[in-house]
Amino acid sequence: MAASNGGDAFEHLDTIAERLATANRVLFITGAGLSADSGLPTYRGVGGIYDDGVTEEGIPFEVALSGDMFRRRPELTWKHIARIEEATRGASCNRGHDVLAAFEDTLPHACVLTQNVDGFHRDAGSRNVIEMHGNVHTLRCTGCDRVKRVDDFSRLQIPPACLRCGELIRPDVVLFGEMLPFQALDHLADETTGGFDVVMSIGTTSVFPYIVEPVLSAREHGATTVEINPSRTEISDAVDFRLPDRAANVLDALWERFRSAHGHG
Ligand SMILES: [Zn+2]
Repeated sequence: MAASNGGDAFEHLDTIAERLATANRVLFITGAGLSADSGLPTYRGVGGIYDDGVTEEGIPFEVALSGDMFRRRPELTWKHIARIEEATRGASCNRGHDVLAAFEDTLPHACVLTQNVDGFHRDAGSRNVIEMHGNVHTLRCTGCDRVKRVDDFSRLQIPPACLRCGELIRPDVVLFGEMLPFQALDHLADETTGGFDVVMSIGTTSVFPYIVEPVLSAREHGATTVEINPSRTEISDAVDFRLPDRAANVLDALWERFRSAHGHG
């Protein structure tokens, strides 16, 4: 089935648009590549927040941003969370997020499963969103569980304490080494039970089982599978259509073809 693996990004858009136009249930899986089109920096490498992936304390950022470190030295983890928030402040959802929200409004049923913690899908208007790694702008008290949305961390005291109970506050994200949230896993299980006609992986590196399994399972059940990513990933050889380009570009073009195929053109 993987006939188009080396193809150019726009060659198969008409076919994919037609499949979407007749689909009842669609899953969009999104990762860092979609937010990169909003100008969000990566954690490491050229233009990244951490050169070589190491903090100035000399530890890998995965260790600084781990649940274990947060328990032992919450001020250190918080310092780096605040730095990431500062580097991403002012960025907003892009054309790719807007297109996925528009698909949800138009298709009988669509779900977004995201690895991103920036909250851009909800900002763009998507409602059926599974934020598998949480949302960095949702802060939760580790004592009394009170939740508050904070968009700008610049006025937070680091590490922040709860005004009500005095306990430590944390962002509602999955730190490295922590379990995925049950609520998100349940939501995904419900969605998967209903099956999908089209599954698209968009800007994800596909290293997590919860990303890879829905794609492979969908393919086994005869669904159309699509990957949008400039780089090859571990699911690249398994998908029906591989579109090697930036997420926002491809989604914008796909939406235009879909509108024609769906009779909105
Ligand atoms: Zn509290």
